[in-house]
Amino acid sequence: MTQVIDGKAISAQIKEELKGKVQALKNAGREVTLAVIQVGEDAASTVYVGNKKKACEYIGIRSLAYELPESTSETELLELIAELNKRTDVNGILVQLPLPKHIEEDKVIRSIHPLKDVDGFHPASVGALCIGEPGFVSCTPAGIIQLLKRSGVEIAGKECVVVGRSNIVGKPMAMLLLRENGTVTVAHSKTKDLKSVTKRADILIAAVGKPKMFTREYIKEGAVVIDVGIHRMENKKLCGDVDYEDVAPICSAITPVPGGVGPMTIAMLMHNCVESIQIQEG
Ligand code: NDP
Repeated sequence: MTQVIDGKAISAQIKEELKGKVQALKNAGREVTLAVIQVGEDAASTVYVGNKKKACEYIGIRSLAYELPESTSETELLELIAELNKRTDVNGILVQLPLPKHIEEDKVIRSIHPLKDVDGFHPASVGALCIGEPGFVSCTPAGIIQLLKRSGVEIAGKECVVVGRSNIVGKPMAMLLLRENGTVTVAHSKTKDLKSVTKRADILIAAVGKPKMFTREYIKEGAVVIDVGIHRMENKKLCGDVDYEDVAPICSAITPVPGGVGPMTIAMLMHNCVESIQIQEG
């Protein structure tokens, strides 16, 4: 029987745990504060920012919203970040991506102080992850590790194949699986004979951004399949990078879309915000 990994339930569990931690911090006179910056009015970004604010409210994290017009210059944005970096009452800074074309994203990511980088995108956070030092970890891959662990999936010693090598999903995912003692292969668009690579996987992480690309020919029987992709189909329904109906019957566990990896990203952002106090205090 295939285990359907329930990201909604696991993220709810994590949020409950965080609620308790935030209350304990409040009882000790500490408040966790996240500053969320959005530039422009991209519809998807507005939904994501709204969900992040709601999650903060639910957990008891104070959120400061900076909704800046599309015309905001790079210098103005960098000045705001510099001010938030200095503020002792702000623990985390999040800049919603994508930014308008006239603003260089890399420059903005690098301007956030690594001790407040709750998205885990700063090169210092990425470097800390690589050498096993404390720091913020990118939320989606961190959420996937939680999904695996809380579903009883053993990672140590397993063949793990990550398809996709982006800075926010594929690469940190590979580092995290390695940290958990998995044997890790990273595949990408230049990988030859992808099917033979993914067929080796005990744990397959699909993060390519191609709707339903992974059919059962890519999957080893009994594998655990984690689907990071999220796409809206013509019939308005959501699907992932994995052809769920085709693959689910042959694997031991699988994440659905929606309700798998998606809900974990915000839960882990909230986790990073709560952790920020400890990280800031060394
Ligand atoms: P990117 O577009 O940044 O990266 C895609 C990666 O997939 C690249 O490394 C690319 O290889 C590789 N790739 C593309 N086509 C193929 C192919 N045919 N065969 C093998 N590899 C291929 O995407 P992201 O990492 O940002 O996101 C991946 C997916 O995850 C998207 O659908 C995105 O919407 C979703 N996502 C979901 C989140 C969630 O919370 N659920 C959060 C973040 C992303 P190369 O490097 O060679 O170009």
